[in-house]
Amino acid sequence: MSDLQARIARIYEQLPPHVRLIAVTKQVAPDIMRAAYGAGLRDFGESKLQEALEKQQQLQDLSDIRWHFIGHLQTNKAKKAIAQFEWIHAVDSLKLAQRLNDLAAQGDRHPKLCLQVKPLEDPQKYGWPFPQLLQELPQLEQCTHLDIQGLMTILPLGLSESESLAAFRAVGDLAAQIIRRSPLTLGELSMGMSGDYRLAVQAGATMVRLGRILFGDRPQTP
Ligand SMILES: *Cc1c(COP(=O)(O)O)cnc(C)c1O
Repeated sequence: MSDLQARIARIYEQLPPHVRLIAVTKQVAPDIMRAAYGAGLRDFGESKLQEALEKQQQLQDLSDIRWHFIGHLQTNKAKKAIAQFEWIHAVDSLKLAQRLNDLAAQGDRHPKLCLQVKPLEDPQKYGWPFPQLLQELPQLEQCTHLDIQGLMTILPLGLSESESLAAFRAVGDLAAQIIRRSPLTLGELSMGMSGDYRLAVQAGATMVRLGRILFGDRPQTP
């Protein structure tokens, strides 16, 4: 068994069966992705559109890969993303949601979406502060062409374990609150990365997005 296969197997052993493992392959070469596919992975997450499109081209023979776009999506790239991804995880503004809704209304592609939320103040991260999302729910509900599946979050760096757990739980509580007051069904919680996925799972994550723990450290980007 290769190291990669062993790492994948170890993660699968740890995850409850209802939690989907998304392999985050930004900066990972297509031949390594192919090996990961060979080891059983089918869900791949990319955060840069151009890089993702090139890899989709190179791996198009692996036709049952489910591609997840997990990065910040600019409105002007929404059309490409909607055509090429089964999931879009980081819908982080009403403007982007409305643009995706318009595109979905015109075409026949309906990717599954998550709304990115910020349980804590974090100027470096995109996403809805909770009060703003609650306030904008009526407009989101009018986006009837969207297939909104759940919430997504990325926590700020440097939190303690108890702070991370509390923040992940707050995202789950927000989803429950929205389900009670709105027709949106938010069954999915996309949360947890290499450093904090155990806590995310403890708090109810249904999808974890793992990069470094599977593929090793990425080269530093300037
Ligand atoms: C890079 C990235 C991940 C994976 O992070 P690791 O620490 O490598 O596991 C998860 N989610 C998003 C949105 C990312 O950009």
